[in-house]
Amino acid sequence: MNVDEKVILTEENIVKTEKETQSDAQPLISVRGLKKSFDNIDVLKGIDIDIHQGEVVFVVGPSGSGKSTFLRCLNRLEEPTGGVILFEGEDITDKRTNINLHRQKMGMVFQQFNLFPHMTILKNLTIGSMKLQGKSFEEAKSEAMRLLERVGLADRANAYPNQLSGGQKQRIAIVRALCMKPDVMLFDEPTSALDPEMVGEVLSVMRELAEEKMTMVVVTHEMAFAKEVASRVLFIDEGKILEEAEPVTFFENPKSERLKSFLAKVL
Ligand code: ADP
Ligand code: MG
Repeated sequence: MNVDEKVILTEENIVKTEKETQSDAQPLISVRGLKKSFDNIDVLKGIDIDIHQGEVVFVVGPSGSGKSTFLRCLNRLEEPTGGVILFEGEDITDKRTNINLHRQKMGMVFQQFNLFPHMTILKNLTIGSMKLQGKSFEEAKSEAMRLLERVGLADRANAYPNQLSGGQKQRIAIVRALCMKPDVMLFDEPTSALDPEMVGEVLSVMRELAEEKMTMVVVTHEMAFAKEVASRVLFIDEGKILEEAEPVTFFENPKSERLKSFLAKVL
């Protein structure tokens, strides 16, 4: 903003403008010094990262390096043992924070879909927003059907999870998370449990979300997909972010020997 613009702003507007500028600049998620130990084993050894609205951050790294633990700390499915996580400006590691309210804003998709087997797809999709957000069945259903339509599964609303293929179940799991209108979607190896021919249908739903500027954090071994969709890729190794870059640099010009040898194995 130049000086002239500043002069013509009323006090009220200046306050508003400053606020807006701040919220534009404020990361959606800000992680500082995040640590997690299990039984004296340090799994996360100090993770620092800011994730901004609309970013699609991919997390790759060797098995056992702490990728899932990192993701699960972001919504406190694991309790961090150190550090701070600000989500939308609020410290969610503070025990006084109502984590359940924040979790509703963080959709999570797991490798094993975790749908309720005894409920129809429609019930799976509506129960969360009805119980946790007080929506009426009609409201919840109309949102669920709109999203089902989008992923091409509207005709399966009354089916049970075990009547669906793995790829369909995972698309439903994504829709279930979206029904809560989250501000960020966390994906932990969403295609790792799928038969190869079903991977594409799940990735294409994720690609659409990314194109719509949904903020996403994605742990995956699908390197070609990461290269295509990511705004940034992180390499986690032994509980630390060893390297991070935008995808072209990350994949074509890795700096550390560790990342070079990891990429040589997985590409
Ligand atoms: P990644 O997702 O990168 O494969 P994880 O975050 O799942 O790695 O695990 C990192 C390390 O933490 C592993 O050595 C794993 O055995 C350990 N770990 C993860 N969860 C637990 C737990 N609940 N209890 C004990 N150790 C755990
Ligand atoms: Mg994992």
